[in-house]
Amino acid sequence: MTHGQKKRTVLLPDGTALPAIGQGTWYMGINRSVRAEEVKALRNGIERGMTVIDTAEMYAEGGAEEVTGEAIADCRDDVFLVSKVYPHHADRKQMVTACENSLKRLGTDRLDLYLLHWRGRVPLEETVQALEQLREAGKIVRWGVSNLDTEDMQELWDIPAGQHCAVNQVLYHAASRGIENDLLPWLRERHVPVMAYCPLAQGGRLRTELLEHPVIRDIAGQRGVSTSQIALSWVIRDGDVLAIPKAVQLSHVAENAAAMDIVLTHEEVERLNGAFPAPEGKVPLDIV
Ligand code: NDP
Repeated sequence: MTHGQKKRTVLLPDGTALPAIGQGTWYMGINRSVRAEEVKALRNGIERGMTVIDTAEMYAEGGAEEVTGEAIADCRDDVFLVSKVYPHHADRKQMVTACENSLKRLGTDRLDLYLLHWRGRVPLEETVQALEQLREAGKIVRWGVSNLDTEDMQELWDIPAGQHCAVNQVLYHAASRGIENDLLPWLRERHVPVMAYCPLAQGGRLRTELLEHPVIRDIAGQRGVSTSQIALSWVIRDGDVLAIPKAVQLSHVAENAAAMDIVLTHEEVERLNGAFPAPEGKVPLDIV
């Protein structure tokens, strides 16, 4: 029995279909000596179908956007470009400049999706007004949020135009399943997909717990794929979560793109759910 469909896509509320695995850019653009490698990795990923690219004005203080800009210079229209605004730029005045600066670094005239990176002191209502202004001006095609838990989402939903939110980008992988308690069901009810960041648990203890777990190793071994690929295929298993792993090594890029073709069986999903149980009750949103 299979779970989900092959070559999965994730639907945005406006009907746009995106490939279920994209590319992250955090930590790119820091060191000029590896820039060519980073550009090459992103281009390779695009060629392999990972056309969603996630960046932010925060990453290397614009450096990651510059790397992205170089990677997409001759294929902008093939890419679904996501960037994020700092919370302290998320007011009506500063967001216009922040967005213009991101567009300049990215070498484009529009973002496909612009996210509030996390909630800061600016009232959500003002942030939404600023995002809507940018949308009406054609600088962004749509907007969303990141790191908003259920209460914040409810608040967003209740303000004018708050329901135009296209995604919520949050941390999600098998070893961190807190969102399944109430945030994910809340978003599902409203057809707002999740963009899963740190889908490979980035670094540290949880990464080892995730990628070296005997069950994930066993499933990967049986299929002749890597544990990272199993971790990614688990994240995208239900069709409404898009994973954005970051990879510079080309072998990683190739693996991540190929993970879009892995359809876990019902039994494999059950085994993984048993190995990585979701928390019983509400836990605060995990962040990095
Ligand atoms: P990831 O979970 O994507 O882990 C990235 C690490 O995994 C890198 O060291 C990379 O190595 C390695 N890797 C990638 N592919 C493989 C593979 N197939 N096998 C083994 N190792 C692999 O962490 P990130 O924190 O980068 O999260 C992904 C993206 O999400 C970010 O880049 C960013 O765009 C976004 N993000 C958003 C946040 C938010 O607040 N909204 C917060 C954090 C991340 P290498 O590069 O050497 O190939």
